[in-house]
Amino acid sequence: MLAITVAPGEGSSALVKEVPEPSRSDGAVLVRTIALGVCGTDREIVSGQYGNAPPGEARLILGHESLGSVESAPPDSGLQPGDLVVGIVRRPDPVPCIACAAGEWDMCRNGKYTERGIIGRHGYGSERFRIEPDFAVKLDPALGHLGVLLEPASILAKAWEQIALIGERAHKWSPRTVLVTGAGPIGLVAAMMGAQRGLDVHVFDRNATGVKPSLVHDLGASYHHGAIAETLERLAPDVIIECTGAPALIRDLWGRTAATGIICLTGVSDSGRALDVDVGWLNRTLVLDNQVIFGTVNANRRHYELAARALAHADRSWLERLITRRVPLEQWGEALEVRPGDVKVIIDFAG
Ligand code: BGC
Repeated sequence: MLAITVAPGEGSSALVKEVPEPSRSDGAVLVRTIALGVCGTDREIVSGQYGNAPPGEARLILGHESLGSVESAPPDSGLQPGDLVVGIVRRPDPVPCIACAAGEWDMCRNGKYTERGIIGRHGYGSERFRIEPDFAVKLDPALGHLGVLLEPASILAKAWEQIALIGERAHKWSPRTVLVTGAGPIGLVAAMMGAQRGLDVHVFDRNATGVKPSLVHDLGASYHHGAIAETLERLAPDVIIECTGAPALIRDLWGRTAATGIICLTGVSDSGRALDVDVGWLNRTLVLDNQVIFGTVNANRRHYELAARALAHADRSWLERLITRRVPLEQWGEALEVRPGDVKVIIDFAG
């Protein structure tokens, strides 16, 4: 079968090649791949900056945003041939730590977890893959190819869950205004979930044109671009969900929520760029206003299920507009290019 593979650590090493059929040791459920979403993490792996192959192997099968159809599954797995499924990305560490032992591998304490298509395990970017029943999430068949949005949506389901948990520290905390920075797929899904919670949603992005402003307006939310300082001054948001990972923008957000406000960081930044920060002012503001800045990564099974519900309740035609390019497997390389107007790009395995 064909798979998109990469030699982690080596830039420009990605290629589609014939690989053996998926190993039984990957799980008892055999899945035929329908589509694979591409994100910044895949681009980092392809450029040689991130990721590892499985132990003893030189190449990694890429891909962690999956969608497939079950070919065969054990009778007691709750899955049947034809079911639409998405594979969970992370696997618990082998120790396991207290969080992984409780099924909360997204909160792994010792960093020895593995991730399909990213860290130490083959991904889902092959014509077929195998998976353990407990790591396959069944989708409403009505979602069709939009199910490929489940993995990115799981990241935001966790982010919103964590925000609510942190918010509980303040008596009757009920946020009204949320600002999302970045109108990529992660930011737009964050905004969609904010709208589903009945919040006053604002999205900030550097683009003034393209599909993003109308996607935001169609959620009943407001779109902002230009100077972030003015937007922050005007809104004093209760919650900020940062989805760009852009250091200069992030620096400008710190300390700018309303009192008891929460900043949730979801983007992974490049390091190596030192910026001026008035730490005294920042510390004083965080302390005197009870503000929280926290980071979140990955998702456990509960978050995938919450995300599946959020997608099932979303407007299908809106979700459809998030997928701005569908690239056939033979042209997989084009899917990794960042083109103007892109929101989510997917690789079509179904032909
Ligand atoms: C994935 C997460 C993963 C993270 C770090 C993200 O792109 O969506 O599941 O934990 O990268 O590897």
